[in-house]
Amino acid sequence: MTKIIRANARDTKTQPPTNFVGTVYADEVSVGEAPSRMRATRVTFTPGGRTNWHTHPVGQVLFCLIGVGRYQLEGDQVHEIRPGDTVIIPPGAKHWHGSAPGQLFSHLALSENDDDGRGADWLEPVSDEDYNAAPAPMT
Ligand code: MN
Repeated sequence: MTKIIRANARDTKTQPPTNFVGTVYADEVSVGEAPSRMRATRVTFTPGGRTNWHTHPVGQVLFCLIGVGRYQLEGDQVHEIRPGDTVIIPPGAKHWHGSAPGQLFSHLALSENDDDGRGADWLEPVSDEDYNAAPAPMT
């Protein structure tokens, strides 16, 4: 049966300061019911907003919607990401994502929980030095 969840049926949530720096909003798109494990969330980062460093046991896909963003895998340069870009994050890879300095940014976050129901393991905040680093040239 068709199920349409209207835009105003669910309020925007502010992400907790335990796992994020700055003001970050989350709008739930869908949470799959078993046997589906699909989760989709639109995440909006205000300027300066970013996740803490974290990992996803089953990996994550980000699809960039608006604005200018940042993404970094531990040990790699920070990368600028823009609307239409898709970021594939491998299982267990330590990383962060967020806005570019001074810019609003939204992405669709697509992920699945593992067998224990875990979708992310949260680590330390991203330092201002890491956040403000010049991004790698776009390829
Ligand atoms: Mn992530």
